[in-house]
Amino acid sequence: MNDCLFCKMARGEIKPDIVFEDEALLAFRDINPQAPVHCLIIPKRHIATLDDLTPADEAIVGRMVRAAQQIAATQGLTRGYRTVMNCKSDGGQAVYHIHLHVLGGRQMSWPPG
Ligand code: AMP
Ligand code: ZN
Repeated sequence: MNDCLFCKMARGEIKPDIVFEDEALLAFRDINPQAPVHCLIIPKRHIATLDDLTPADEAIVGRMVRAAQQIAATQGLTRGYRTVMNCKSDGGQAVYHIHLHVLGGRQMSWPPG
């Protein structure tokens, strides 16, 4: 058993505010939301960073993006939304278990900080 925060959520040891779940993915509301809707989509299997993905992970990453589309629909983000994956320190990654942010419900700006 590892002590990764998001693995604990995937195992049900910590209970986030879940918005989507299937056999491979879990999605929940971010504890520190940066937009009216801010969800995180994680694979239940531990993958630390984008740089740790292998060709065998292509399907799970595709499912994460499709889950973003489904969550956006169920959360009413008809005007659009932002998806973000931060990688390592320069990318601003704080939790080293990959996650796709889905942010919406307000106008996003560019460039990000
Ligand atoms: P990142 O900076 O891309 O690694 O994003 C990590 C995200 O996890 C941040 O937006 C945090 O607010 C969020 N986060 C940290 N702890 C929790 C938690 N217990 N439940 C939900 N979201 C969390
Ligand atoms: Zn993990």
